[in-house]
Amino acid sequence: MTVHSPGLVAPELIPVAAPWITEREGDLCREAALTAWGPDHYRFNRLFEQRFADYVGTRHAVSVPHATAALHLALAALGVGPGHEVIVPAVTWIASVAPVSYVGAEPVFADIDPDTWCLDPAAVEAAITPATRAIIGVDLYGSMCDWPALRAIADRHGLALIEDAAEALGSRLDGRPAGCWGDVSAFSFHGSKTLVTGEGGMLATSDDRLLARVNTLRDHGRPPGDRFFQNTEIAFKYKMSAVQAALGLAQMERIDALIARKRAIFGWYRERLAGMNGIAINAEPPGVENSFWMVTVVPDAAHGIDKFELMARLRARNVDSRPFFSVLTDLEAFAGKPAAARFLPAVPKGRAAADRGVNLPSGYNMDEAKVDLVCRVLADALGIG
Ligand SMILES: *Cc1c(COP(=O)(O)O)cnc(C)c1O
Repeated sequence: MTVHSPGLVAPELIPVAAPWITEREGDLCREAALTAWGPDHYRFNRLFEQRFADYVGTRHAVSVPHATAALHLALAALGVGPGHEVIVPAVTWIASVAPVSYVGAEPVFADIDPDTWCLDPAAVEAAITPATRAIIGVDLYGSMCDWPALRAIADRHGLALIEDAAEALGSRLDGRPAGCWGDVSAFSFHGSKTLVTGEGGMLATSDDRLLARVNTLRDHGRPPGDRFFQNTEIAFKYKMSAVQAALGLAQMERIDALIARKRAIFGWYRERLAGMNGIAINAEPPGVENSFWMVTVVPDAAHGIDKFELMARLRARNVDSRPFFSVLTDLEAFAGKPAAARFLPAVPKGRAAADRGVNLPSGYNMDEAKVDLVCRVLADALGIG
């Protein structure tokens, strides 16, 4: 590795993510801590869930401890289990995939589109076997899957369609929000995400029967309304606390401002990065409105630099970043699952982004001057400054 002496250095570390918290969030959390007990203990959850469902265009939303739980519940409620396969993108955060193993099913990796970084419908179609039960599409970094194509494939083969919208709150496709495209969808409110509750998540669905199943499964197998501890099966406990729900409700009240800010931050980056040679950034094809959870750059191979070296060069200049998610077959976690990769080409189309992509600081603390500095630091780190 070449030792690069930093030229331009940010005066203090610019973090890769930061939430936007106001007095309103603090006030509602305080109110929840003081009042949301006894018969009122679920009041803030209900308000948060209702507002969330209205926003994403589903009949129901269910607050849960994290998106991982939402995906686990979705698979369990759909009856996915041992002997079944679930098609997942070959490049995503492991939380999109791990719940497939929780229910005893097998993940099967399908390649992603090199520009949108989301599932390639043709690759999905090619990975279907008699054991396939579901497809999990991931709206990566705020990008949108080709949901109409995935829906057509799912319907043709009788498969369930799950939308991992953890990174895409506020994105739209053909005017319809992320989260309304799957039979069931999952959102994350982890502290780095577009809307935060610290840890937290939401399951959204318009299917009444699926909702009833989810509500039983997330409450230790109690039929809805059970007050006598008469569990009908062994299940899970996946609920969100009132204080977290109050925080989420306050964020939901400000959702339009949050999304506008995310798009403004990306706009400042786009103005500067568009002029840089050999750099690809987040796609926004016609019909898509991307909420740009994380601004992402993928330098061309000609730059001769991988994501970890670029991160190190940025860090040496006081700019924090994150690596693009890896091709899952590269992770030790999946070393024991070679069958998961049997439909992947030797060099997946997702590899360029996965090997060279880096997420730049995208938090709500970013202003135009900071974005400008990060872009100059990036150019310097790549030696194109
Ligand atoms: C963050 C994330 C998750 C998991 O969210 P948690 O709330 O941490 O469980 C799932 N999928 C994707 C694509 C994510 O980015």
